[in-house]
Amino acid sequence: MEKLPNEKLAIPRPELSEEEEPPSKPSFIDEASFLDEYLKSRTDRDKSLTSDRSLAFMQEFFPEATLKDWNNWHWQIKNSARSIRQLARFINLSDNEVKPDGNNHSLPLRITPYYISLLDRMNPEHPLRKSVVPVFDEFIVHPGENADPLSEEHDSPVENIVHRYPDRVLFLVTGFCSTYCRYCTRTRMVAKDKCHVGIKAWEAGLNYIQEHKEIRDVLISGGDPFTMPDLHLEYLLSRLRSIPHVEIIRIGTKVPVVMPQRITRPLVNMLKKYHPLYLSIHFTHSDELTPEVREACEKLANAGIPLGSQTVLLKGINDDIEVMKNLMHALLRARVKPYYIYQCDPVLGSGHFRTSIKKGLEIMEGLRGHTSGYAVPTYVVDAPGGGGKIPLLPDYYLGKGEDGYARLRNFENREFQYPDFS
Ligand code: SF4
Repeated sequence: MEKLPNEKLAIPRPELSEEEEPPSKPSFIDEASFLDEYLKSRTDRDKSLTSDRSLAFMQEFFPEATLKDWNNWHWQIKNSARSIRQLARFINLSDNEVKPDGNNHSLPLRITPYYISLLDRMNPEHPLRKSVVPVFDEFIVHPGENADPLSEEHDSPVENIVHRYPDRVLFLVTGFCSTYCRYCTRTRMVAKDKCHVGIKAWEAGLNYIQEHKEIRDVLISGGDPFTMPDLHLEYLLSRLRSIPHVEIIRIGTKVPVVMPQRITRPLVNMLKKYHPLYLSIHFTHSDELTPEVREACEKLANAGIPLGSQTVLLKGINDDIEVMKNLMHALLRARVKPYYIYQCDPVLGSGHFRTSIKKGLEIMEGLRGHTSGYAVPTYVVDAPGGGGKIPLLPDYYLGKGEDGYARLRNFENREFQYPDFS
């Protein structure tokens, strides 16, 4: 039948059938209250703001402090260990760890009380301890090492901006971190002023981004941006958001790992006003995924912020397939998508941390196909001299035969052929 021009289409209204809305049994109300109680008890149990470990540490070393103090990030920064002598109060230092005391350090020492509480007091080989406690090996410079291994200063058109890739910039907004990693790529700049640079120092960078319409992605890093007060951070985010061509903003941080107390409700409520906002969190080992850190990640993820991890491959810390796999699994459980594994940059005095590239490929081979694809990050070498990130994968493509079939190998090293005629 032909439709008249003004005739409306009749949309059939389906009746709800019994299958779609089953009738309640008499016990339904009882079950609902039982489930309600169960879910509430689960939520309460899972939310542990201060773990037993932190509590025991606090009572032993800061008996005067209250729980409120411990959970205050300003208190954590104020009470950080800033010298070998201060650190000796908490852990038994080995000879190799004591030796840097008399030297003029290129990279300062700072570790929050929270992160110290995770360190093994007796074992200098403990992975987390090796990542933050200075050792004498830092003073040995190896061939190919450089104060600015990625030539960031060469690619810096104005102060605090690194413009290497056409459509995105790195914005170094502070030189301060709450805990210093001993292998930091930016040893040349972190903690030089021992405080934040201040908002006026960002003006040239903001103007540069405003003037360059090709910049659609800004990565805020440093130093650690989350060590800045909320107000400063919000000023920066709102200035960037007011630039129409800036599509996404990313923040690189280690704070959720070394000072989870910083991830407060006000911070998270402020951050979620500036979507699309992404976070790259620097993780090293699964021991870092404590209840406090998981809770911090949960708050951020619940605010709709996609979380990704960045992990530096470090000798004696995480250069092992099982150790890396455990970390990737722990990250996914904390709603963090494994994003990058970095080959350790050849910064001055980092030779004792560096593994071979072969080791990195071996780890990737041990992940790909052996666990969920979501748990497999990209392994990259940041090319010295400013070449950018180069992704590396074990070779699964074995070449193409004269018959037109491509030869491939799978994660079990079994060979397969694919009709590659096009
Ligand atoms: S948190 Fe990042 S910037 Fe700070 S010391 Fe560690 S690697 Fe360097």
